[in-house]
Amino acid sequence: MAVTGCILLIRMIESFIMNIWINTGPIKPADIRRRTNVNTKKISIIVPCYNEEAAITIFHRETTVVMHTLDYDYELLFINDGSGDNTLSILKQLCADDPHSKYISFSRNFGKEAAMYAGFCNASGDYVAVMDADMQDPPSLLPEMITYLESGEYDSVATRRVTREGEPHIRSWFARQFYKLINHISEADIVDGARDFRLMKREMVDAIVAMSENNRFSKGIFGWIGFRTYWLPYKNIERVAGETKWNFWKLFKYAISGIVNFSEVPLSIASYFGFTMTFIDFIFIVFIIVRKLCFGDPVSGWASTACIIIFIGAVQLFCMGVMGQYIAKTYTESKNRPHYIISDSNKDDVKKVN
Ligand code: UDP
Ligand code: MG
Repeated sequence: MAVTGCILLIRMIESFIMNIWINTGPIKPADIRRRTNVNTKKISIIVPCYNEEAAITIFHRETTVVMHTLDYDYELLFINDGSGDNTLSILKQLCADDPHSKYISFSRNFGKEAAMYAGFCNASGDYVAVMDADMQDPPSLLPEMITYLESGEYDSVATRRVTREGEPHIRSWFARQFYKLINHISEADIVDGARDFRLMKREMVDAIVAMSENNRFSKGIFGWIGFRTYWLPYKNIERVAGETKWNFWKLFKYAISGIVNFSEVPLSIASYFGFTMTFIDFIFIVFIIVRKLCFGDPVSGWASTACIIIFIGAVQLFCMGVMGQYIAKTYTESKNRPHYIISDSNKDDVKKVN
């Protein structure tokens, strides 16, 4: 009896000492990691790169300086979009020297939209930003952008150029007309001068990833998914090195793609045209019959007839072209091809095809 009492007493003292040890003893590495994660958010910065060998080192340096002034964990996620220059080898070197930098390299050039999508699919941060590699999206704006997200009032902070200095006038004019048009005919709120440079919360990134359409127009996607966005205005900055990848024809096709992706109005216009033409045709037929009956002149009027035929033919071709655009988009979507194919990366958990 006395022995059992002694054993019980010893067990109680042992458990008391163990409790004190667990609660006040040295913190295990696993605990340190867990505690750090509770307090620190991670920021992922997606950087699409296509032939950016001249700009990439400057971007990496400037962004790293800014990120080191902030109390956040971060990753720079470079997406090499099939560059034909030394971009990939420079990226490999940067990533070898900097544990915060990761690269994903495509098997060919899939375009900036695919590069951004690959970034969204592979970014692990609580906040995710998209930035161009050419320094046109100034890293110095990042601290202010983070403050807006931390205020809890916004889910995303997007940037908007208030000037277009350094851009050809004709390009600026077409861009302005495009924004006016698309805002009239589409549900998505697409702001004039909006850049792809924005910082978003994880919920918004998940919504973007869920929009897995092949024909991507990110400015429309950002507007369509909603969320509370703060627009940060800034003056246009010219690229630090290298050349723009967009010529007039590429931008024109991109604009058409934006309209087709986010508006069915052109299709409706085609049917309105059809309806109006039928009505005008009917009046013409009545007019021709009445004239034939009254004057019986079979020869005169050939010129106007030719004009009408050509006009109707043109309208029909236009409408078929509009429908063709939508059918082409449906065709590419139905093939369901991957958005990009990854040939190389230093990220462990990368999705090779998506
Ligand atoms: N970019 C890309 N793939 C492309 C074209 C461009 O990843 O096919 C990248 C490019 O490297 C840059 C960003 O997208 O980081 C914006 O391109 P650019 O500066 O040429 O466009 P602009 O600023 O003239 O509109
Ligand atoms: Mg640029």
